[in-house]
Amino acid sequence: MYADTISAIATPLGEGGIGIVRISGPDADQIASRIFRRGRSLRPVDVAQLESHRLYYGYVVDPRDERVVDEVLLARMAAPRSYTREDVVEISCHGGPLVVREVLRLTLAAGARQAEPGEFTLRAFLNGRIDLAQAEAVMAVVSARTPDSLDLAVGELRGRMVGRLGPAREALIEALAYLDASADFPEDEVPPLDLTGTLARAEAALDEVVAGARLGLLYREGVQIAIVGRPNVGKSSLLNTLLRAERAIVTDIAGTTRDVIAESINLQGIPATLIDTAGIADTEDIIERMGIDRSRRALDTAGLAIFVLDGSMPPTPDDFRVAELLQRRVASDGHDRLVLVLNKRDLPDRHDHDEIRALLPGAPVVEVSTRTGEGIAQLEATLAEALIARAAEGAAPALVTLRQQQALTRALESIRQARAALDAEIPLDLVAVDVRDALLAVGEITGEQVSETILDEIFARFCIGK
Ligand code: GDP
Ligand code: ZN
Repeated sequence: MYADTISAIATPLGEGGIGIVRISGPDADQIASRIFRRGRSLRPVDVAQLESHRLYYGYVVDPRDERVVDEVLLARMAAPRSYTREDVVEISCHGGPLVVREVLRLTLAAGARQAEPGEFTLRAFLNGRIDLAQAEAVMAVVSARTPDSLDLAVGELRGRMVGRLGPAREALIEALAYLDASADFPEDEVPPLDLTGTLARAEAALDEVVAGARLGLLYREGVQIAIVGRPNVGKSSLLNTLLRAERAIVTDIAGTTRDVIAESINLQGIPATLIDTAGIADTEDIIERMGIDRSRRALDTAGLAIFVLDGSMPPTPDDFRVAELLQRRVASDGHDRLVLVLNKRDLPDRHDHDEIRALLPGAPVVEVSTRTGEGIAQLEATLAEALIARAAEGAAPALVTLRQQQALTRALESIRQARAALDAEIPLDLVAVDVRDALLAVGEITGEQVSETILDEIFARFCIGK
């Protein structure tokens, strides 16, 4: 347990009437007693005598002159039944951001120390209430962008990661136990083990976590989708339809979409940023050319490209040029990064399906009308499907931070080395070194093995008050 008591504003500052000041540590009750009063007569209260996990109505005063700062609700959460497992007092203020700051100042004047970013969560971790993956999930919960990414973060918060790593951990421990025993005891006394098979099992289990992590990243970080095509096929209209709002400029004059316009949507739970690019076509217009350069760059960074064609006419030479550019830029690592959209379905169908399909072989084709909305739901489903298929081959999404990802990679490397050493008939005590490294790396993910510096790094990224 920590010697000092920390305090911070636990709610975002700004809008909203209510703000919570959270105090945690051995002096939490005492500090709260200094500034909390009850009843019209502002009678002093020994907060330590208040019932745990109950709300008490009262006032926060400045103890120097008993001036009332705010009308508040106070809750005391006695250790260990609190967020940090320490004594916690939470004061809910009603008076707006300035008042919340004033209440915080009073707790500091009464002996608390301003909490560092993430320090409450750090204490929860150090006091054994949550594991490291859960602590990091707290941050993900706070910054989730769609309900699905929130669900994912909450799942991690409930300790899903430890369970997910279980099979790999078990296999590694089994292998290590066997290797250690082989070093210490004569061969006939050690129960036999299929070492290669056990290590392969550990590797497969970690591979699955990695695949899930890619999918989790998609829900959490989102993706950029570039909308490309020659002028006038309906890119801006499509963007608007997908946004269901009139944001991008729609016009009848070809080539007037000069800026790349980016907007975010919730694509079946995936946060997707749509980028409307200027038409990619031959032109002498310098300004338009700048727009085109920008769309080429947008293409390079996008996770997926929507190639829009005007289905009411046969493909033009410009359409073929765009298709060619897409072939070179996007399709180089597979057609799963492309979706072809035939727009203006409300107009007479004047295209040859085989010819369209031949433009980008393998890419899904969806026919839509941005004017009537026909096919748009189908397009959304196709986009989400393409993104998910690309991210993970059937794995359940996992939430994995960069640090965890690195530890996973190291664990996998060590396992592969151990397997190679085994194949090369290198002495078993050397194989054991790699297996031990792998186990250490797996332990790092949930915080069984972490150094001070890693901890500092992780918790410095939290908002203060969390
Ligand atoms: P962009 O240059 O590719 O961004 O194309 P715009 O979105 O500016 O649209 C070009 C023209 O096609 C505009 O006159 C739109 O009203 C029209 N348009 C877009 N989508 C449709 C559609 O589904 N049906 C019809 N009939 N016209 C459309
Ligand atoms: Zn058709």
